[in-house]
Amino acid sequence: MARYDLAVLDGTVVLPGGPRRVGIGIRDGRIAAVSEDLSAADAEEVVDAGGEVVLPGGVDPHFHLGIYRNITEDARSETLSALVGGVTTVVSYFRTGHHYLDRSGPYAEVFPEVLAATSGHSRVDFAYHLAPMLRSHVGEIPSLVRDHGVTSFKYYMFYKGLDLAGASLDAESYTMAESYDLGHLYEILEAAAACQAEAGDDTRVSVSIHCEQPELIRIFMERVAADASLAGLAAYSAARPPLTERLAIAEVAVLAGATSASINLLHLSSADALEAAVELRRRLPRLDARLETTLHHLALTHETYDDQRGKVNPPIRAEADRARLWEGIVRGELDWVCSDHACCSEEHKEGDLWRALPGFGGVALLYPYMLTEGRRRGLSLERIAALCATNSARAYGLYPRKGAVVPGADADLAIVDLETVRTVTPALLHSAQEYTPFEGIELTGWPTRTILRGATVFADGEPVGEAAGEYVSRPVAAAAGAGTAA
Ligand SMILES: [Zn+2]
Repeated sequence: MARYDLAVLDGTVVLPGGPRRVGIGIRDGRIAAVSEDLSAADAEEVVDAGGEVVLPGGVDPHFHLGIYRNITEDARSETLSALVGGVTTVVSYFRTGHHYLDRSGPYAEVFPEVLAATSGHSRVDFAYHLAPMLRSHVGEIPSLVRDHGVTSFKYYMFYKGLDLAGASLDAESYTMAESYDLGHLYEILEAAAACQAEAGDDTRVSVSIHCEQPELIRIFMERVAADASLAGLAAYSAARPPLTERLAIAEVAVLAGATSASINLLHLSSADALEAAVELRRRLPRLDARLETTLHHLALTHETYDDQRGKVNPPIRAEADRARLWEGIVRGELDWVCSDHACCSEEHKEGDLWRALPGFGGVALLYPYMLTEGRRRGLSLERIAALCATNSARAYGLYPRKGAVVPGADADLAIVDLETVRTVTPALLHSAQEYTPFEGIELTGWPTRTILRGATVFADGEPVGEAAGEYVSRPVAAAAGAGTAA
C-alpha cells in the first residue's frame, strides 16, 4: 500500500530555509514528508509540478468578507478570487455596526451567525479577527479567545467622533457604540494583554490597529474641500495626510507601551507611517509590534492611478511613500503584505468622492505581484513566502498548520510558473467586483494549481470542486504526527 495519498513531485519547493528540489508526501490533508527520496510509487496519486516552484499556500491576514455585500455571497466569490493567486487561508475582519450585518449585539450571539453564514461557502480556510465595538465586547475577549478560537481584535482609530463614514452617518450610528474612543482602546489593549499573559504558553493575543487620527482628518478634510486646486485621489490623500497616521501611531505607542499588549499596525501607507512604526519599535523594544502594508500601497500611487475607484483608507499615496514602503519590505521592517480585500462594486464608488465607499479587492494578486516586484528588487523566494504566508500565520496563531511547507502542516500549496506573464484584468481575478485598480499591470509568476489540505481546488485558471474551506480555530494546536524531513 502507498505510504501517501498524494505526492507532489518534480517541483522546486520553497522551504523555510530556501528552495530545494524535493518531493512532498501528503497524508490525510497534511504534509507527512518533505524528501528527495519520494517517488511516484510512494503515493496513490501524483501531481507533477513540472519543474515549477511550490510555495506554501498564501495567508492573507487582512480581508473583509461581507463588508458591503451579503457575507455568504461574498465568501463564495471572493475566496475563489483568493485561489487564483495561490492564497489558501484568509483572516477576515468583522465588526458590529453599520455595514456587515448592520446590527449590534454580543459576539456570543453575532459571531456564531457570522460563522454559519460563511461555513460551507468559502473556498479557502478562514478565521476571523473581531472588533470590540461595545464596552461589553471587551468583557467578551476572554471567552472569544477560549471558546471561539479568536485571538486577534481590532480597533479603528478614526471612528472616534466623526462623520467620515461616507454614509452620512455620525460616529455613533456608524459604530452603534456609546463611547468609541482612546479609553475604549485602552481597555481592549488591557484585556488582550491579560488574556495573553493568562494563556501562559506562546499564544499571541493581539490587537490590530487602523492608525489614522480623526481630529486631524477633520481639519484637513475641511481645507481640501475648500481648495478647488485639489481633486481625485490626491485630494483624498491630502484630506487624510500621513501626519494622521504618524499621530495615531504615537498615541498607540503610549497605550500599548502602558499595557504591554501585542499589537499589529495595519496597512501602513506612507513614509511617515512606517517611520513612526519603526520608531515605536525602537523605543519599545520589548513590545511585540508587527507591521503590515498592503499590495495597493506597494503598487499604486495617486499619480499613476487617479480614479475614484481607488478610494481606500488609508489613502493611496505618492511615489515617495511607495518607494519608502518598498525599502521597508527589502530591509525587513515590514512583517507582511496583505490585500485588505473588500469587494466594493462600481455603483458604490460613483458620485461624490467623500461619499464613495472605501476599499477594493486584490487578494488574487498577492503572490503574482510580490513575485514580480519582490524578485525585481532582489527578494528571495523564501522571503516572499515569509511576507505572503509565514509571518502573518505566526502572528495570528495559524502556524505551524498554515504558512510554511513543513512536516505536520496542512498541505496548502501554490504551484507557480515563474515564467507566466499576464496583464491584470477584472475577468482574470474571478471576483464579483467589476473593475480592478490593478488593471493593466503586467505580472510575471502565476499559480498553475492551488492545493488546499491535499486537494486541488484551482487549476489552469478555473476552480475545482465545491467550496471546501473550513474555519480555523486559533491558536492551532502544534503539529501532531509530524512526518520526516530529509
Ligand atoms: Zn481593512
